[in-house]
Amino acid sequence: LSKMSNEVEKASKAKYEKNTETIFDKIIAKKIPADIIYEDEQCLAFNDVNPQAPVHFLVIPKHRIPMLDEAKDSDSEILGHLMLVASKLGKQKLPKGYRLVINNGKDGCQSVYHLHLHVLGGRQMKWPPG
Ligand code: 5GP
Repeated sequence: LSKMSNEVEKASKAKYEKNTETIFDKIIAKKIPADIIYEDEQCLAFNDVNPQAPVHFLVIPKHRIPMLDEAKDSDSEILGHLMLVASKLGKQKLPKGYRLVINNGKDGCQSVYHLHLHVLGGRQMKWPPG
């Protein structure tokens, strides 16, 4: 299997369980290691373990929102914060530009049900995405 179909397969098998912690909670709690590149009270950014571009990191809220569709009006501040952190890190690491992605649900290819922004760059990104 190619890397991409692997990711699609993983996503199609991923179960959405609203109240179940994911591997990202363990990363936040430092129970499993990750290559953390930024942290503050509300969020964490770390390199993706299976990068799809020369630079590929994730920005996640510490408080678990399972997916974008589960975000509430009261989450608007954290959603904005995640984008601004992605932008600050993106500007720093990828001055020529980058791509922000949020996968939502099965067809969106979401495999970890803890909301995360993908930041990808370090090469010319293609459009439309697959
Ligand atoms: P999704 O497909 O849900 O949008 O993205 C999940 C991402 O998390 C994938 O790109 C995958 O490689 C990454 N990922 C999954 N488990 C781990 C892990 O344990 N550590 C790190 N650093 N990344 C992970």
